[in-house]
Amino acid sequence: MTVTDLQGLAERAGRELETASAQDVLRWAIGTFGDAFVITCSMGDGLLAALSASVAPGVDVLFLDTGYHFAETIGTRDAVGQVYDVNIRTMLPLLTVAQQDAEHGPRLHDRDPNACCAIRKVEPLARGLAPYTAWASGVRRDESPTRADAGVVEWDAKRSMVKVNPIATWTQADVDAYLQANGVLVNPLTYDGYPSIGCAPCTRRVAPGEDPRSGRWAGTAKTECGLHV
Ligand code: SF4
Repeated sequence: MTVTDLQGLAERAGRELETASAQDVLRWAIGTFGDAFVITCSMGDGLLAALSASVAPGVDVLFLDTGYHFAETIGTRDAVGQVYDVNIRTMLPLLTVAQQDAEHGPRLHDRDPNACCAIRKVEPLARGLAPYTAWASGVRRDESPTRADAGVVEWDAKRSMVKVNPIATWTQADVDAYLQANGVLVNPLTYDGYPSIGCAPCTRRVAPGEDPRSGRWAGTAKTECGLHV
């Protein structure tokens, strides 16, 4: 299929699946792309893994191990791999934290978080996605203004890939209800003041009622790591 064909397919599916359930969106993606479809997961919870396992066994799930994750996030990844019928693929940056410190100086995340994210998230994601045609994320429209236009299926022009956001139309209340009703694995930090979990140096607790993503890169203008926008 040419890039133009893929783009047309993504745009058409985005329109046709706008009101479909998350499972039906995943069913379409797995049926259309097979082994060339991968889910990305930051291990805030096992929601996408649980949803995909309910549709088809053994879907690839990409996890970016930045070297700066909370221990609870690594534990959640291990538990998700044990509990759900998915194939976890962990991607590592090309530089260890020690190598990055030696090359760029310590605490790059404080001085230039975009450069740190480029090394530890953006490049590993690009490398991890290279074998695939379509990828899925847990991006939701209600999370932030930068995500308000996310399509259920859309064309990722930056990567020339089909991007699938099965829960784009879900609200936080929808997520909480599904997690509870289905006993889905959740990162324990979620119950400890971290509704949005990233790397430890760049994530702080938020107060009850505060914007869930305000704990990410707090005190800076940065709101995204560069993976989804
Ligand atoms: Fe670095 Fe922070 Fe980005 Fe993690 S979130 S890769 S520590 S800048």
